[in-house]
Amino acid sequence: MGEPVHRELIGRLAAARRPVVFSGAGLSAESGIPTFRGRVDHALWSRHDPQQLASIEGFERAPELVLEWYDWRRGLVVEATPNSAHVALARWQQATLITQNVDDLQERAGADPDRVLHLHGSIMQDRCHATCGWSMPADPDSPRGWHPCPECGARTRPGVVWFGEGLPEETWALATRACSNADLILVIGTSGVVQPAASLVELAAASGAYVVNVNPEATPLDSMADTCLHSAAGEVLPELLPD
Ligand code: NAD
Ligand code: ZN
Repeated sequence: MGEPVHRELIGRLAAARRPVVFSGAGLSAESGIPTFRGRVDHALWSRHDPQQLASIEGFERAPELVLEWYDWRRGLVVEATPNSAHVALARWQQATLITQNVDDLQERAGADPDRVLHLHGSIMQDRCHATCGWSMPADPDSPRGWHPCPECGARTRPGVVWFGEGLPEETWALATRACSNADLILVIGTSGVVQPAASLVELAAASGAYVVNVNPEATPLDSMADTCLHSAAGEVLPELLPD
């Protein structure tokens, strides 16, 4: 710390009036939740491509496999605790917290759930795979397998958005509105390649927001950023958003 670039940035974040955070899997990586585009050490799941499993085609081709994978991922989320980046963001009361993450770590770090926009749904919910609208908090203790929907008998599934599916309309509307009005967008831990989510950064930038990107690796979003910090979220966020 103490570098002038950080000092200037801390001032900018504190002064932002309509800040938006746009986070991805990297935000939860230090809590032990694997990212999609990183190494997975778990022997069984390292053989599968998450982008195939987290897709509508993947589910329709091999539903049991996909449900088992989500069981495993949900177990990781239940066991995980929020990291210092979640905690720092939860403290930043004026920010709208848009996330691609399906975990609940941001809320468990103390963020008001109304301030967190889950573009890709929640792994802690179950819902009907058909269109009846049934949805319910998932019971992490009950094995999932193949449960029929209590309303219509169709298959139930995790309440997440898969590749090939549309985003929840209201959440998307709130997110685009926040990005159009933002004076600063803090992007954290996303590869920036999943659309339409990643287009929110472009929208905020085109609307005049100052763009900060936090990611240990270079990503396509770097070219859009006014400031890039190639650091881990848990290390740099508590410095950027001091208590
Ligand atoms: P991604 O897996 O494509 O990319 C993760 C990014 O995080 C990478 O660019 C990586 O360099 C960066 N990263 C790794 N460790 C980091 C750290 N400590 N601090 C900051 N950045 C770090 O993730 P994505 O862009 O979010 O897109 C993948 C999709 O996967 C999303 O739609 C999301 O719904 C889903 N997903 C969610 C979770 C979760 O809910 N925790 C986990 C995996 C995937
Ligand atoms: Zn149903």
